[in-house]
Amino acid sequence: MDLATWIDSLPKSELHVHLEGSIPLWALFEILTRHGGDPEVPDLQALERRFAYRDFPHFLAMWTWKHGFLRDAEDFAFLAEAAAREWLAQNITYVEAHYSPTDASHTGLSVGDLTRAVRRGLDRVVGVEVRLICDVVRDSPIPRALRTAEEAAELQDLGVVGIGLGGPEHSHPPEPFAPVFARARALGLHTTAHAGEAAGPESVRGAVEVLQAGRIGHATRAIEDPGLVELLAREQTPLELCPISNLRTGAVPSLESHPVRTYFERGLKVTLNTDDPPMFNTTLTGEFVALHEVHGFTREDLLTLLHNALDASWMRDSDKTRRHLELDQAARA
Ligand SMILES: [Zn+2]
Repeated sequence: MDLATWIDSLPKSELHVHLEGSIPLWALFEILTRHGGDPEVPDLQALERRFAYRDFPHFLAMWTWKHGFLRDAEDFAFLAEAAAREWLAQNITYVEAHYSPTDASHTGLSVGDLTRAVRRGLDRVVGVEVRLICDVVRDSPIPRALRTAEEAAELQDLGVVGIGLGGPEHSHPPEPFAPVFARARALGLHTTAHAGEAAGPESVRGAVEVLQAGRIGHATRAIEDPGLVELLAREQTPLELCPISNLRTGAVPSLESHPVRTYFERGLKVTLNTDDPPMFNTTLTGEFVALHEVHGFTREDLLTLLHNALDASWMRDSDKTRRHLELDQAARA
């Protein structure tokens, strides 16, 4: 069995993927068309070209452009269903997906109504369990971010399990969000933060030491601080690495230069993720194949990454045990 077929055959988990960045391009084009379209994007090929980025700020600008076309509850139900079908088609059976009510404030939907629409779409797809991470956006004022965390905590019966800090990392360091993270934890939510993607290792240190984030998204530039790499190894802080995303946004100049191999060899808790797969022209299987081809990961190494994702997930321990067994059985088949 070739590697891609083998990876496809395994039940996989994703811990760092954005729901609104997971809309298949055909579905996004349908939403665009539904709302009058954009004369500069007359077809799918033009939409694909839109998602080639000069740098991280350019990516954020395209993210915002796309969000302008998400207008009502039906758009969110539609995109959630389309994303879930795509995950299921790749045998991704467990997902903790970020979604961003703050970025959808132009819709006038309350956080509750938006989340209910997303859940409605997700529930139309059987075979993939999707739990939600509510994004706190870094350029929000702190009182607004606190309100988002509190609203998220009220939606745990809709599968909201955590908050995630996202947005313009290069201009907004993590430390001011410490009260938001503390409040979220007190209300029963898990926490993760983007760090070390568009900003340096100090952002990772801030997210670990000050926010006490349960996981770190990207952590790409932690490699620049040897003491920090030791800390991450010692603490076994789960890292949600997204190598192809980093390549597409210019966070790394090449896949060869991505620190994933070094982190893995030093015993850091590495998981592999896609971030915004259609926007970065990647798939989860594609990420695994790239690690094999570019960094020499063996099948056993790749299996370790899949087990790491289960360990680092926020599912119940009994579910972890069951999914570890299912993964091992599928790998031996
Ligand atoms: Zn992300």
